[in-house]
Amino acid sequence: MKLDFSLRLRILEKVGIYSNRFGIQEPKVLLTTREVLDMPREVTQGRRTSAYKYLGVSYLQHCLVFINIKKIQDEKMLENTVVHELIHMRFPYLSHGKRFNKLVRRSLAGKTFAPYKKRK
Ligand SMILES: [Zn+2]
Repeated sequence: MKLDFSLRLRILEKVGIYSNRFGIQEPKVLLTTREVLDMPREVTQGRRTSAYKYLGVSYLQHCLVFINIKKIQDEKMLENTVVHELIHMRFPYLSHGKRFNKLVRRSLAGKTFAPYKKRK
């Protein structure tokens, strides 16, 4: 997709809506690899120069997500990617798999979650 101001706004709006539904703090959103590279190294460590390969990346420790607009082809893919990355934020202990995919599907259908509470 071509990133322009209105797409940027729409994405931030989507992230806001899903963050609310997921009971998470709204992450800061990066939309180009340039923006990833402009972040401090310690923030994007591990997924910095490799970020371009992915549709999205969550930097969980820093409440930051990268949505790789350049790689995203249509609206459906965009919605999926936003939800996928925010599910990582809401369920940081959960890795990819059946349960993860089910959460993504349900979220796309409008599911909401109580806020995540870190165990002390
Ligand atoms: Zn993932």
